[in-house]
Amino acid sequence: MFENSQGSAVAPSRPSVLTRRRVVVRNVAARELLTDSAPACAVFDLDTADELITALHAAYPRSVRAMHTVAAKAVPLRAILKHFAGRGMGCEVASPGELALALDAGFVPDRIIYDSPAKTISDIAVAVQFGVPFNIDNFEELARVDRLAADRTTLPSIGLRINPQSGAGAIEAMSTATPTSKFGIGLADAREQIIQAYIDRPWLTQIHVHSGSQGLALTHTALDVSLVVDLAEEIERRAGVQRIWRIDVGGGLSVNFTSDATTPTFADHCAALKAASPVLFTGKYQIITEFGRSLTAKAGTLLGRVEYVKQAGPRTIAVTHLGVHVAARTVFMPDAWPLRVEVYDQFGDPRLSEPDPDRLYDVAGPACFAGDLIATGRALPTVETGDIIAVPDTGGYYVSNHFSYNSLPRPAVYAARGEGVLTLVRRAQTISEVVAESGEAELRELTTATTE
Ligand SMILES: *Cc1c(COP(=O)(O)O)cnc(C)c1O
Repeated sequence: MFENSQGSAVAPSRPSVLTRRRVVVRNVAARELLTDSAPACAVFDLDTADELITALHAAYPRSVRAMHTVAAKAVPLRAILKHFAGRGMGCEVASPGELALALDAGFVPDRIIYDSPAKTISDIAVAVQFGVPFNIDNFEELARVDRLAADRTTLPSIGLRINPQSGAGAIEAMSTATPTSKFGIGLADAREQIIQAYIDRPWLTQIHVHSGSQGLALTHTALDVSLVVDLAEEIERRAGVQRIWRIDVGGGLSVNFTSDATTPTFADHCAALKAASPVLFTGKYQIITEFGRSLTAKAGTLLGRVEYVKQAGPRTIAVTHLGVHVAARTVFMPDAWPLRVEVYDQFGDPRLSEPDPDRLYDVAGPACFAGDLIATGRALPTVETGDIIAVPDTGGYYVSNHFSYNSLPRPAVYAARGEGVLTLVRRAQTISEVVAESGEAELRELTTATTE
């Protein structure tokens, strides 16, 4: 505690996200983590993640017994997921690999939610056997679960994923509530069949909706949740008994990629749900959330060295080691997924010169195609060879979506904590691993087979 000028104790203010990022870049430079053989890395700031987790928990009243899960696909790193588990989070998974990872990271089975549109019979059997709650995507899957459920006395909590068929958000590829989305059972298509499915099966005790990620308005999300809440209430009336106890509202809170401000907040999201579905907050139902990007994006920074600065006609290009391998979505869909870039010198101090409006930069990656650009036409301070480019807001879906084009290796990921702690959480892929995974051993087999 510090004392203010009146002599009373005040808590020290927490460093801003920008301050933390500057500390991270300085530490990465001081520890010489960017080298010729490792010219890029990623850092995940646990303090920022903790603030987001705390804000999420604080947003929901105790009466709704909320179970908040983090979507594994946003940050499939064992140590980071373990950190989330230790902070009272559950985990949303959508593949056998993510399920294994979540169990490994220490999430107990009943704090996991298994969503996948293509579960095999074995996937369903594993979920049932381990007691992992899951959401059924379609009626064919329901029939498979019926057959498995027939000879079980206990089952995990199981729900149907409902597609509210209410339309798309700003990014079509991220929208899952369109009339023709591949996810879930269409509410307009099959309302009566859904109601009958619940009436007939006392073990169907939860219901799920996830209307998409990034670019969806809060009012849209809240409307979709209210459609599912209304459905749950109707099922209760028609069955004469409460069938649904858990309402899984999915994730999809958008992240602001234009500044360090966290907007909208988890409290905004919760308030929108409450306004649209008051009954959801009476304590009658348990609420489950499945946030990915909004819990992780602001915590992460990609860092890469500037290898060259060159001129091509009127165009100034900073050739860096941050490209399509670490930022696939941004490179392929730059308008949907724009990222900020910051320039630091080789010692990790921010470059602060006034940008020259007549000399805009394109920030290119190392890959061999012309579109490998993480930013174009940017007003930046003068960039020099050896500088460090930092890309904020990349804690979710960036290092998890490595793209191995050009055999570019996965970079290392570090976790940051406090003023100076940087801990390795995923080591970089080595060149010999890249070669081995390209079929090194299999090549020997083929050579032997064809020379026999
Ligand atoms: C991806 C996904 C999430 C997380 O989405 P965010 O936009 O990252 O919050 C939650 N639920 C399901 C079913 C998903 O597929």
